[in-house]
Parts: sequence; C-alpha cells; structure tokens
Amino acid sequence: MQANSGMHWGIDIGGTTTIIGYLKPDGFFKTATLETNPISGPDSLLKSISRIIDETDHAPYSAGVGIAGLVERSEGMLVSSPNLPGWKDYPIRGNLSSMLNCPVAIDNDCNVFALGAIESSSIPDSGLWLMITLGTGIGGTIIHDGTILYGSGYAGEFGHMAVEASGKKCLCGSTGCWEKYAASEALIDYYKKYAKHAIYISPKEIAHQASLKRYAALKAFEEFGTWLGIGLTSLYHCFSPDGVFMAGGLMGASEFFLKHAETEFHRRCTRTWKVNVLPSSSDAGAEGAAIMGRNRTK
Ligand SMILES: [Zn+2]
Repeated sequence: MQANSGMHWGIDIGGTTTIIGYLKPDGFFKTATLETNPISGPDSLLKSISRIIDETDHAPYSAGVGIAGLVERSEGMLVSSPNLPGWKDYPIRGNLSSMLNCPVAIDNDCNVFALGAIESSSIPDSGLWLMITLGTGIGGTIIHDGTILYGSGYAGEFGHMAVEASGKKCLCGSTGCWEKYAASEALIDYYKKYAKHAIYISPKEIAHQASLKRYAALKAFEEFGTWLGIGLTSLYHCFSPDGVFMAGGLMGASEFFLKHAETEFHRRCTRTWKVNVLPSSSDAGAEGAAIMGRNRTK
C-alpha cells in the first residue's frame, strides 16, 4: 500500500469561491482559489478540487470540507444550502473520498471555522461559548469545554431561530428566521428602504457610505444591529454563555452595527454583554476544514 503524503487538505466551499489548501506540521498553506459556479453542480466542482489536489499530492492523508448549509455529518451529505441552489442531498464525503482515495470529513462552515478558532486558542478550551458567523446567512456553533455540541445532529442553527412569527419567508420552510433580518440581504433591503431607491448595492458599499456618515447607510446598520441584538438576547437566555465570538464577511463593518446590537440587548435583558469579534483571514475556513479532517482521521 502506498504511504500517504502526510498532508491534510482543507476545502472551504462558499457560494462564490472555493478555497483549497493543506495542513502540515509547519502550518497551513493555501494552494488555490476557484469559482464555485453553483450552476455547474457539485460533481463538476468536486472534479476540479480533486484535480487541483492531485497536482500537488497523489496520496493525501485526509481531507475536510466546510460548506455553508445544512450538513448531515454521519452520512457525509450536504442536505441543502441557501448559497448553492439545487445542491440537495448530495453525498460530498463519499464522492470526494473515492476521487482522492482518502478519508473525508464534512461539516458546515461555521463549525469548521470554530474548530480552527479552538485549535488556535482564540476560543477558550473551557466554558460555554457561542460562535456566530454573519454573512449571506447566520451560522452558529455551540462550544463547551473546547468541544462542539451537535445535539441530535444540527444544533447551532441560530439563523433559523424565528424572531418574527409571521415574518419574511425563509428557504428553510419557516417564516421570520433571524437570518432574514440580520444577514446581508436584510442589510441591503434596509439600505434601499432608507435610500428610497432600488439599485443594487453591496454590503461593502453600504459600509463605505456609512464611513462617510451618509444617512441611509447609518440607518440601515442601526436597523440591522437592532435585529442582531434581538437574536443575541434570546441566545443569552437559552445558553447563558460565557461569551459570544463573531466572525464572517459582515464583521468588517461591525463598528457600524455592533453598538446598536448592544443597545437593543441592554434594553431587553440585564446580562453582561460579552461579544468579541474574531479576526479572520479569507483562508481560515479552509484551514479549519483541514484541522477537522486531521482530527477525525486520527
Ligand atoms: Zn429559516
């Protein structure tokens, strides 16, 4: 039998880009960024990933995949993903494992990011902590004494906690989910409402407008932060965490909304606000995925 290379590969599949890299004892090395191109389907993406890995490594030790969406870990299936329309009940682990000829682990992107943060001690290894990623949706992870809690499989899906009984319809089938009020699409909707025009604007541009103190952008972040605070209050009541860590694409603009979340939180409860922003690089997800693959194949 051929000896493996000792490399643990990490793959972060996002709605727009997929990042690939490997972990060795001396650190994590990013090797490629490619377009996810969801319309071409998962088979096509996995073939590209496998080809890229094979250029460097013919006998990987393991691979880990982090993906935004509902993941059935025991079967290695992607159940569904709001970022990847049409990708349903797809056996990522089985298919990638046969292509790479090595063990593969998969999990959702927030859990994978949290694994990286636990490994680097950014998240303490004792106590109860919540991790929240803010971006296209809201990801969540519950960490107790350095271990992720899964419950019967899907614990931590905070983005689908209902905050408005008859609110906006969500792809998960429910209405009024938190991520319909405190993730990218909601921020854009608030901006359009205050700017009174309907042109497309990205969260990054709204942050730029806010840095120039433009009214519509400041109001959009205020409304966004208020909804964020509403959800965070419920999470404090449910978990009484030692603290919350936040990361994700929208956190670059946290100076414009986190203070409003805190105001709303104090309006609703008397707990101590302990919310920290985790620094993150664009390849943190792929590194966390590689760590997961390594840990689960030990
Ligand atoms: Zn939902």
